[in-house]
Amino acid sequence: MPKKHYRKSHKVQQIAKARINFLFQHAKEVFKEDSKLSDKYVKIARRIAMKHKIKLGSSLKKRFCKHCHKYLVPGVNCRVRIHKHRLIYYCLSCKHYMRHPVK
Ligand SMILES: [Zn+2]
Repeated sequence: MPKKHYRKSHKVQQIAKARINFLFQHAKEVFKEDSKLSDKYVKIARRIAMKHKIKLGSSLKKRFCKHCHKYLVPGVNCRVRIHKHRLIYYCLSCKHYMRHPVK
Protein backbone atom coordinates (compact mmCIF):
# COMPACT_ATOMS: atom_id res chain seq x y z
CA MET A 1 0.00 0.00 0.00
CA PRO A 2 1.46 3.35 -1.00
CA LYS A 3 1.33 6.05 1.59
CA LYS A 4 -1.23 8.72 0.98
CA HIS A 5 0.23 12.12 1.52
CA TYR A 6 -2.69 14.04 0.18
CA ARG A 7 -5.16 13.21 2.90
CA LYS A 8 -5.86 16.46 4.62
CA SER A 9 -5.74 16.33 8.32
CA HIS A 10 -8.11 18.86 9.78
CA LYS A 11 -6.32 18.83 13.06
CA VAL A 12 -2.98 19.75 11.46
CA GLN A 13 -4.67 22.55 9.53
CA GLN A 14 -6.33 23.81 12.66
CA ILE A 15 -3.02 23.93 14.49
CA ALA A 16 -1.43 25.70 11.53
CA LYS A 17 -4.25 28.26 11.51
CA ALA A 18 -3.82 28.86 15.22
CA ARG A 19 -0.10 29.39 14.69
CA ILE A 20 -0.76 31.87 11.89
CA ASN A 21 -3.14 33.86 14.10
CA PHE A 22 -0.62 33.75 16.91
CA LEU A 23 2.14 35.05 14.62
CA PHE A 24 0.01 37.94 13.39
CA GLN A 25 -0.92 38.77 16.96
CA HIS A 26 2.75 38.86 17.86
CA ALA A 27 3.64 40.87 14.80
CA LYS A 28 1.20 43.51 16.02
CA GLU A 29 2.64 43.52 19.51
CA VAL A 30 6.28 43.86 18.53
CA PHE A 31 5.73 46.34 15.70
CA LYS A 32 6.29 49.43 17.84
CA GLU A 33 9.61 48.18 19.10
CA ASP A 34 10.88 46.17 16.19
CA SER A 35 9.04 46.35 12.87
CA LYS A 36 11.59 44.03 11.25
CA LEU A 37 10.58 41.32 13.67
CA SER A 38 6.95 41.85 12.60
CA ASP A 39 8.00 41.32 8.99
CA LYS A 40 9.73 38.13 10.02
CA TYR A 41 6.56 36.88 11.72
CA VAL A 42 4.58 37.60 8.56
CA LYS A 43 7.14 35.62 6.57
CA ILE A 44 6.81 32.64 8.89
CA ALA A 45 3.02 32.87 8.89
CA ARG A 46 2.95 32.95 5.08
CA ARG A 47 5.25 29.94 4.93
CA ILE A 48 2.97 27.97 7.25
CA ALA A 49 -0.07 28.98 5.19
CA MET A 50 1.60 27.86 1.96
CA LYS A 51 2.83 24.61 3.41
CA HIS A 52 -0.62 23.65 4.66
CA LYS A 53 -2.45 25.28 1.75
CA ILE A 54 -4.36 27.56 4.04
CA LYS A 55 -6.02 30.60 2.56
CA LEU A 56 -5.43 33.70 4.58
CA GLY A 57 -8.69 35.46 5.28
CA SER A 58 -9.31 39.00 4.12
CA SER A 59 -8.66 40.37 7.60
CA LEU A 60 -5.18 38.84 7.62
CA LYS A 61 -4.45 39.75 4.02
CA LYS A 62 -4.92 43.40 4.87
CA ARG A 63 -2.25 43.18 7.49
CA PHE A 64 0.71 42.68 5.23
CA CYS A 65 1.84 43.94 1.84
CA LYS A 66 1.33 41.40 -0.90
CA HIS A 67 4.27 42.85 -2.83
CA CYS A 68 7.01 43.21 -0.24
CA HIS A 69 5.35 41.15 2.53
CA LYS A 70 5.92 43.72 5.20
CA TYR A 71 3.62 43.94 8.16
CA LEU A 72 1.35 46.94 7.59
CA VAL A 73 -0.04 49.34 10.13
CA PRO A 74 -2.42 51.94 8.68
CA GLY A 75 -1.13 55.43 9.31
CA VAL A 76 2.37 54.18 10.05
CA ASN A 77 3.71 52.38 7.01
CA CYS A 78 0.64 52.32 4.80
CA ARG A 79 -2.13 54.65 3.74
CA VAL A 80 -5.73 53.55 3.49
CA ARG A 81 -8.26 55.18 1.20
CA ILE A 82 -11.75 54.21 0.16
CA HIS A 83 -12.40 54.45 -3.55
CA LYS A 84 -15.39 53.04 -5.44
CA HIS A 85 -16.36 50.74 -2.59
CA ARG A 86 -12.87 49.40 -2.33
CA LEU A 87 -10.23 49.80 0.29
CA ILE A 88 -7.02 50.97 -1.33
CA TYR A 89 -3.92 50.21 0.67
CA TYR A 90 -0.78 52.01 -0.35
CA CYS A 91 2.38 50.46 0.97
CA LEU A 92 4.90 53.16 1.86
CA SER A 93 7.89 50.88 1.73
CA CYS A 94 7.49 49.42 -1.78
CA LYS A 95 5.08 52.08 -3.18
CA HIS A 96 2.55 49.58 -4.42
CA TYR A 97 -1.21 49.58 -4.14
CA MET A 98 -3.47 46.79 -2.99
CA ARG A 99 -7.20 46.72 -3.42
CA HIS A 100 -9.61 45.04 -1.07
CA PRO A 101 -13.34 44.86 -1.66
CA VAL A 102 -15.54 46.31 1.09
CA LYS A 103 -18.38 44.12 2.18
ZN1 LIG B 1 4.98 46.73 0.13
